[in-house]
Amino acid sequence: MPRPSLRTRSRKRHLLRLPGGRVTTHFKRETVNVLRCSRCGGILHGSPRLIPSKLGKLSASEKKIKRMFGGILCHRCLRGALRSSVQSG
Ligand SMILES: [Zn+2]
Repeated sequence: MPRPSLRTRSRKRHLLRLPGGRVTTHFKRETVNVLRCSRCGGILHGSPRLIPSKLGKLSASEKKIKRMFGGILCHRCLRGALRSSVQSG
């Protein structure tokens, strides 16, 4: 039985054959997906790609983008959305 922190399926298991012929399971580190813009699907820059335990060690300004819809929309989509809202309303 693996130790409690490894009893999750979110860590990739990797079977490794040792020099003696024995096969053991090694666990790969958890990966975090790249944040993407919800409108165009482009990659969002400036947001950390860390697991939650590492995310807590960052300062507040490093955690998220301090902009309207920061971390949700990219800067190009936000500019377009603001312009269209001003022109229509
Ligand atoms: Zn976008």
